[in-house]
Amino acid sequence: MVPNLAKFSNLIRSKLSDLSDLATFPPQFILLSSSVGVGLGLLLLGSTSPMQAVGGLLSCLGILLIWRSHSSAFRDRLTGLPNRTLFMRRLERSVRQTNQRKQNGFAVLFLDLDRFKSMNKKFGSKRGDRLLVKIASRLKTSIGSHDFLARVGGNEFAILLSEVQSEEQASWDAHHLQVQLNLPFEIDTQEICLTTSIGIALSSAGYVWSDDLLRDAQTAMYHAKSLGRARYALFQPSMRVQAVTLLQIETDLRRAVERQELRLHYQPLVSLQTGKIVGFEALARWQHPKHGLIAPAEFIPIAEDSGLITSVGYWAMLQACYQLRIWQQRFLTDPPLMVSVNLSSRQFAQPNLINQVECVLAETGLDAQSLKLEITESMVMEDIEAAIATLEQIKALNVRLGIDDFGTGYSSLSHLYRFPADTLKVDQSFISRIGLDEENNEIVRAIVTLAHNLGMTVIAEGIETQEQLAMLRSLNCEYGQGYFFSEPLNHEAAATLFAAAPRW
Ligand code: C2E
Ligand code: MG
Ligand code: MG
Repeated sequence: MVPNLAKFSNLIRSKLSDLSDLATFPPQFILLSSSVGVGLGLLLLGSTSPMQAVGGLLSCLGILLIWRSHSSAFRDRLTGLPNRTLFMRRLERSVRQTNQRKQNGFAVLFLDLDRFKSMNKKFGSKRGDRLLVKIASRLKTSIGSHDFLARVGGNEFAILLSEVQSEEQASWDAHHLQVQLNLPFEIDTQEICLTTSIGIALSSAGYVWSDDLLRDAQTAMYHAKSLGRARYALFQPSMRVQAVTLLQIETDLRRAVERQELRLHYQPLVSLQTGKIVGFEALARWQHPKHGLIAPAEFIPIAEDSGLITSVGYWAMLQACYQLRIWQQRFLTDPPLMVSVNLSSRQFAQPNLINQVECVLAETGLDAQSLKLEITESMVMEDIEAAIATLEQIKALNVRLGIDDFGTGYSSLSHLYRFPADTLKVDQSFISRIGLDEENNEIVRAIVTLAHNLGMTVIAEGIETQEQLAMLRSLNCEYGQGYFFSEPLNHEAAATLFAAAPRW
């Protein structure tokens, strides 16, 4: 019978991939087991001459050298973890064995550390490396002894979770890893907090090729990122199409600024004392020629990941200040109208941010006091000392500062008093539950008191009902924003609304 060449080459490949598992064992283990092997061999041969003993030792060293060269080809130098090549071999074997029903189902988790690139820039690559080593070791202690962890890219890790029978089980494991990685890391006495996006692909979908499994886990990770990061997603076939669309959107976004497809909508900021509009929050929209109006939650994360946020963010700040200047000249109010602009974390980490703000103020002629920059707690918590230094530089320009979405991040209250912020915006998740549960009411009351004690004024975001408004007034919350007053409007509609001088 003529041997089947494909079968033969598969057999060789599988044996080689089994051999590559040697690289997953520690050197002491290899040395010990090879010494025992050689010793036993010598005993069995009944020979104990010194020459044979030396020979035994040399062969033992030889095995160690082979292991070392083999291991460096399969291991990541920085963390000492298996690398992508070794992970793929291991995955190949698991796919084969699962298909042959020699092994139960498993899952592949693809982990990407959110905003690691900007963190690396901020802290320097040496500290970034040390952080990666710490992350690797925390991951190692967070997985089971039969699971297989590898570093598959700069800030990417992959885990083969063995014995996974259900989506729930894989999701639970992903959640557990996220919780572990959320705990602060200490580098040079500095606390660093980060989040992770995880994509999950299950072997039960019937994969034949290991490449497909890893690719799908990665696609699911991108999906998790596009939903706002710091979450996990289970792979669905529809995500493949979305991944292509995502890439297309990134390409389109590159041209959106120059083609003037970006717009700002303005949501009124209302004084709860007077019931009058005192300013606006500028919120970005993208008028895509094919997909229509795209919400910021969909394109800001893409702009951040691709680095386009620098131009998008600068454009938003400039446009908002231009518009406000026009309104201040048209509507004379005391104090003058003000505008809030959102900063993204990557923008906040830009070394030339202060310079950008100065340029915008100089170009538009807007008084610095009329501009407020909104940041979120999580942006500050990544590197508190550096963030406070940036915030103080912004304050030195006389620009106002606001903390957005308060209550949703992992903020350390002990640091809050150090932020030179003027306002604290209570997240809409708390406002929407006002009147529905007493505990929530107490939380809102506590946040308002905390902000006042720290010398900040309070904005409630997402006010939708009269009842919410009444309760916030009774708590002495100074400002409000929400659909109850108005949705974000284009500049013409916003001007019309302001000119009508509504009072709530
Ligand atoms: P944000 O700064 O917290 O903005 C508030 C969001 O809540 C806005 O969504 C607004 O339309 C929505 N909203 C306002 N009132 C209500 C209400 O009563 N009920 C409900 N359900 N929602 C309400 P939008 O415009 O989709 O913006 C989402 C997020 O995108 C913003 O959250 C902000 O973080 C980000 N973003 C928007 N524009 C920019 C920008 O120019 N630069 C950056 N970096 N981020 C931006
Ligand atoms: Mg905001
Ligand atoms: Mg908000």
